Amino acid sequence: MTIFDQIIRREIPADIVYEDEHLIAFRDIAPQAPVHVLFVPKTPVATLNDLKPSQAEVVGRLAVAAAAYAKRQGFADDGYRVVMNCNEHGGQTVFQIHLHLLAGAPLGRFGT
Ligand code: C5P
Repeated sequence: MTIFDQIIRREIPADIVYEDEHLIAFRDIAPQAPVHVLFVPKTPVATLNDLKPSQAEVVGRLAVAAAAYAKRQGFADDGYRVVMNCNEHGGQTVFQIHLHLLAGAPLGRFGT
């Protein structure tokens, strides 16, 4: 059980922007860009390391939902970044996989 499970169960509040049978999306509580939305699958998977090949759709649906959200919100053509953090060196703090969608300003290049 993670804090994201509690958001899915409506046990703690979140600013939910999208939900379907497979996933939920809500605004990050500590945004790192003007738009910062987390896409979280309802299937429990602690880290990307735990994703089985048979579960590829679990992550695929996060990417499809993030791109659809960007199109609906009108910033798809300007662009955006998606990130998945894994374990300590990746900076993962919540151990239910999730895709960060960051947008709303030029974000700079990784590694520069
Ligand atoms: O990738 P990582 O595990 O670090 O991301 C977890 C994210 O969940 C953080 O960006 C944090 O701000 C966010 N969070 C949230 N709402 C909570 C708890 C954490 O948006 N209640």
